[in-house]
Parts: sequence; structure tokens; C-alpha cells
Amino acid sequence: MPIRVKRIIKKKKSLLSTRKKFCRFCVNKTKEIDYKDVRLLETFIRERGKIVSSRISGNCARHQRRLTSAIKQARFLSLLPFTRG
Ligand SMILES: [Zn+2]
Repeated sequence: MPIRVKRIIKKKKSLLSTRKKFCRFCVNKTKEIDYKDVRLLETFIRERGKIVSSRISGNCARHQRRLTSAIKQARFLSLLPFTRG
């Protein structure tokens, strides 16, 4: 195999395998996400108050949906900010 091709493959691998992604809620087998658990929800929002996307957080679709609705509920009750700064 020529060196150039090898290099490309190496680069791709390192980009893909920077971090192993897994759904935290699936691991803990949580079905419902509590909107009152602010500490947990805060780990899924950015500094500015944005919700972290599932592509970054690694959540599965089902839990990401539950999470967003929980965050929105918490926002409505002013447990979490809509925006910050
Ligand atoms: Zn999940």
C-alpha cells in the first residue's frame, strides 16, 4: 500500500475514534428524564443555554427527545435559563 493512502486512512480513523459515544440514559436504563433534576439537565446545555445536540452528547433519538422536552419544561419553570449572557 502506498504511503499516501495509509496516511489518509490514519487521519480518518483518528477523527472518528476521538471519543466513544454512548447514550448515558440507556446505560443507566432510565426511561423517564425528570425535569426537576437540574444538575443532570445542566450537563446537556451549553454555556449560553443551548441544548447540546445528540451528535455531540451521544444520546439516542428517544432519550434526546425526552431530554429536550424535560429541558423545555424546566425552562418554563425557570429552573434553567432560556439564554445566558
Ligand atoms: Zn438512550
